[in-house]
Amino acid sequence: MTINEIQNLGIIGAGGAGFPTHVKLNSNPDTIIMNAAECEPLLHKDMQILRNHGDAVLEGFKIAMQLTGSREGIIGIKEKHHEEIQFLESRVSGNCRVQPIEDVYPAGDEVTLIYMTTGRIVPAGALPLSVGCVVQNVETLYNIGTNKPVVTKFISIAGAVEEPATVEVPVGTSYAEVLSHFKITAEDYVVRSGGLMMGALEADLSKAVSKRTSALIVLPADHYCVTMYRRFSSDHAVDIIAKAGCDQCSFCTELCPRYLLGHPVRPELAMRNRMFTREDLPLTNPGNLFCCECNLCTMYACPEGLDPKGATLIDKRLARSQKPAWSGERPALHPMFEYRKVPVTKLKQRLDVTKFRDEGPLKQLNIHPNVVRIPLRQHSGTPARPAVKEGDRVKTYDMIGRASSEISCTMHASIDGVVKKITEDEITIERV
Ligand code: SF4
Ligand code: SF4
Repeated sequence: MTINEIQNLGIIGAGGAGFPTHVKLNSNPDTIIMNAAECEPLLHKDMQILRNHGDAVLEGFKIAMQLTGSREGIIGIKEKHHEEIQFLESRVSGNCRVQPIEDVYPAGDEVTLIYMTTGRIVPAGALPLSVGCVVQNVETLYNIGTNKPVVTKFISIAGAVEEPATVEVPVGTSYAEVLSHFKITAEDYVVRSGGLMMGALEADLSKAVSKRTSALIVLPADHYCVTMYRRFSSDHAVDIIAKAGCDQCSFCTELCPRYLLGHPVRPELAMRNRMFTREDLPLTNPGNLFCCECNLCTMYACPEGLDPKGATLIDKRLARSQKPAWSGERPALHPMFEYRKVPVTKLKQRLDVTKFRDEGPLKQLNIHPNVVRIPLRQHSGTPARPAVKEGDRVKTYDMIGRASSEISCTMHASIDGVVKKITEDEITIERV
């Protein structure tokens, strides 16, 4: 397989980042790391892919190593997944190894995973390549290994549903259609896509599953997490709450995984900025630009129930516009790094999700939508350009969108049908 073929198959980072895979693999790292450290509470799709399609994942891993000429392959996986570790260890040898890691959050964050599997620290603002690494998610490697255009997506369906599961659905299926196959146990509920920590509340369930959707989590409308998500829905709310409640205890910073890796991220200073400064003044701490948005400070660390992540994101936005000079010094690990990792079991208690079944077996639910709406911008970079016109008949796997630049991706039909509508955002296909 070639880099061009990976672009033509429409493969992007399936863990949520959506970066075109051909760009990432067009490099010469010494190490490829398989990211099997799924760490968002209640998500199971990566482990289900490994369990059910492990050989295809390993084939993709082998191809990624060959394309980049990597000397070493490391599989970073939570030590609790005994069966999957046993399977992987029985299959890999030579320059590949399995690296079990603790069940902590956010172990699946690229920078954290690189440290936990290699001991290397990616400098703030630098790419993993700067320390010789490229990280690929399990599902991304599966997509490489199957050597077919990406037209389906694995998703965890979790939370207030009777039978949580992992399902494989055509890209472009609406969230509502996917959820219609599940019995929801809450009368009044909301849906969080992506994950409890790093996902988004979805007001519109007609939204389409994209190649980067990893989960749909159903939550009762009065659930603790929903209250937290809604409390900080605007900059103004973050400002008011910061001014009223932050006592500068610094717990948010002391537990920030990026701060502990030596990056200059200081959410408590972001809160101070909200209290004492104006947006037109230089930032107190431009290092907040390097927040990875893990949400640990807000959803776990802050004892006052405030939103240091929201404040840090405001700093991040300002830092981008103010373009502060950044010295780029190399980070030094905080001496307490080992002792301040957050176990996922503790995080689940804090999020009040221990009441939900924490499982997600892969199920064949025959989800065959009559209509799919395929987003043209499912990836980082420039959107795909339509390669079909309204009225065209298409078959599953036909190319319907071309990459519009080097950092862009090809799109394919996920059902047999007729192209009903093309907008600048999406291509709608109706089944015939
Ligand atoms: S935001 Fe919360 S954790 Fe951070 S300094 Fe303020 S009160 Fe403490
Ligand atoms: S979201 Fe909070 S805890 Fe996570 S990296 Fe940003 S500042 Fe640190």
